[in-house]
Amino acid sequence: MQAYQVTEHGKPLERRQVAKPIPTGHQVLAKTTVSGVCHTDVHVAAGDWGTLKLPLTPGHEGVGVVEAVGSEVTTIKIGDRIGVAWLGSSCMDCYLCKDGRENMCENQKQTGFVQDGSFAEYFIADERFAAKIPSGVSDAEAAPVLCAGVTSYKALRMANAPAGARIVIAGACGGLGHLAIQYAKAMGYEVIALDVFDEAKEVMTKELGADFIINLGRREKVSCRKAQFH
Ligand SMILES: [Zn+2]
Ligand SMILES: [Zn+2]
Repeated sequence: MQAYQVTEHGKPLERRQVAKPIPTGHQVLAKTTVSGVCHTDVHVAAGDWGTLKLPLTPGHEGVGVVEAVGSEVTTIKIGDRIGVAWLGSSCMDCYLCKDGRENMCENQKQTGFVQDGSFAEYFIADERFAAKIPSGVSDAEAAPVLCAGVTSYKALRMANAPAGARIVIAGACGGLGHLAIQYAKAMGYEVIALDVFDEAKEVMTKELGADFIINLGRREKVSCRKAQFH
């Protein structure tokens, strides 16, 4: 199969012919339809977080259709549409995993970092960590939710603010921020969007529902959509 791989840090990804992986145990093999690109992929490719595997296929916002399953798989079947995310798998046995904090597991395997990711024709996912994509959500819509979406959604959940509260989203027009605005509005918050805005980003941020915009790139601190902000 074809894969775009990091062969040397700091160099462009190389399109290479690699072996199609065979799923074992709880793994499934999916044929990629869409892969998002996260800034983490840029860090991984640049070697900013060290080298754990080279050559490496990055990509941790992959959506695809399952084509083969490992011998222990019970929850996903061939033909299912799934997504693979940054947390590819964890040990499932340490106190963090047992406490529902698998993302903190010291033995976790990150997709597109420790193991190959979704910048390829096929990707491997662990059934216990793969996301089933609901019908009605397109592949392209689902892909960024797998990293940028879950990250910003969790931040809002952890903030645990009451409905109607004012929420400040820093980096509001970035990959995470523009999704955070939409989640925050859906949760009933009043959104203050903080970023360095150009005109296009300001238009987008307003369209996504932000109530106030604070442009850090201008001397005048505040421009407001619906009211003067004091
Ligand atoms: Zn990411
Ligand atoms: Zn663990």
